[in-house]
Amino acid sequence: MTRNSYVSEVLDKVRARDPHQPEFLQAVEEVLDSLGSMLDKHPEYQKHRVLERVCEPERAFQFRVPWLDDKNNVQVNRGFRIQFNSAIGPYKGGLRFHPSVNLSILKFLAFEQIFKNSLTGQMIGGGKGGSDFDPKGKSDAEVMRFCQSFMSELFRHINADCDVPAGDIGVGGREIGFLFGQYKRLKNEFVGVLTGKSLEWGGSLVRPEATGYGSVYFACEMLGAKGQNISGKKCLVSGSGNVSQFTCQKLLQLGATPITASDSSGWVHFKDGMTNEMLNEMMALKNVRRGRISELADKFKNVEYHETKKGADHNPLWAVKADCAFPSATQNEINGADAKNLLAGGVKVVSEGANMPSTPEAINAYLDAKIMYGPGKAANAGGVATSALEMAQNSSRIAWPFDEVDNRLKNIMKNIHKNAFEASKVYSWEGNYVDGANIAGFKKVADSMIAQGVV
Ligand code: NDP
Repeated sequence: MTRNSYVSEVLDKVRARDPHQPEFLQAVEEVLDSLGSMLDKHPEYQKHRVLERVCEPERAFQFRVPWLDDKNNVQVNRGFRIQFNSAIGPYKGGLRFHPSVNLSILKFLAFEQIFKNSLTGQMIGGGKGGSDFDPKGKSDAEVMRFCQSFMSELFRHINADCDVPAGDIGVGGREIGFLFGQYKRLKNEFVGVLTGKSLEWGGSLVRPEATGYGSVYFACEMLGAKGQNISGKKCLVSGSGNVSQFTCQKLLQLGATPITASDSSGWVHFKDGMTNEMLNEMMALKNVRRGRISELADKFKNVEYHETKKGADHNPLWAVKADCAFPSATQNEINGADAKNLLAGGVKVVSEGANMPSTPEAINAYLDAKIMYGPGKAANAGGVATSALEMAQNSSRIAWPFDEVDNRLKNIMKNIHKNAFEASKVYSWEGNYVDGANIAGFKKVADSMIAQGVV
């Protein structure tokens, strides 16, 4: 495929400006390469230099986060917030607490978030933030002191109409609670400045479930377009956190069977399929006891544990025979070799709960095989979409019942699928959801940027 000359020119500039940000460059290249045929038909985007502008964050903060551990030692972490694009609404995107967090990872996540948020059809711009703090092994009191210190700087830059963070890896209900408490104390305002809150103080029903449920709804839409359904399908799932748990729950509800789960130490194979009892145990293990996934194999028969080998060239989880795959842990968890194993094992559907879990080689393998591949920015958009529903409920000071939020989520996922599918037909080949999602997400943002002038 020859690259569009405007895309080449902009990629060269972005690479020259940020040569040490591999994840960010990977995300930019993936999006821009999808836009070529659309840019040929729409010279106005080049005329207004939209690509150069959309690749540069409107604002990025980095700050010191000092805190005291339980032994009264001073610890110092680094905090970030990237306010990438506000053309279609206030910045919206999660906070990630993980030792791997750096500017490159957060810029890739914030960049992806721009197009994902646009695809949801809601008025939300793109942002992301976080810290290299690792909540693992910390006491609740240490996590609270860290969150308070983090918010003592972040509060200056966010508010309900400007930038509304949520959770991501390492930031769940506990962390959102501590962050919200500190914001309220500093500003003396009870407002919807964070999403993912508890129900008792402004949270929305279905928000915890939304990303995992949404990823399964997206898979159902892809299958439905081919006259198939998910019932009876064997599914590989990675991760064991928020997204993984509710992916498994929805799969079980719809008559499909999760057969794997993982954490950063290793993975488990549910040889006879995961049951509801096993899922409940995984939730208690990860959300309450904060233990390791290997404990599931100690507790249940026919569950095998395999430790992850550091530096291995492939992950055997993706070689287990199955019909569908729901990567739900982290970026670049499926490489080219894993993708080959997936395809050889019979997988025909990949729906990404995680952000950018497939490397470019893996994505090319799915596209060459023409399987049903839902990229993260489409398949996992249910989380942020439901965050926007939480913002709407907060603004109107009402709370919708579970079924109402769930039905809205289903409709949003249906529309994301429809818009990506239609764009794929016009600008690429029918069912190329990578091109379809990137183009459908990009156009709305780009048109809004042009309408708002050079800002
Ligand atoms: P959680 O922190 O709840 O769970 C993350 C899971 O992934 C854990 O099982 C964790 O293992 C595992 N994991 C994290 N890092 C690695 C790594 N480097 N190698 C192997 N396993 C790893 O996060 P979420 O479930 O919220 O997020 C999962 C993915 O989904 C992320 O890519 C996130 O950006 C994306 N996402 C999340 C949304 C949400 O609403 N939460 C919305 C949209 C996307 P361990 O327990 O050992 O840490």
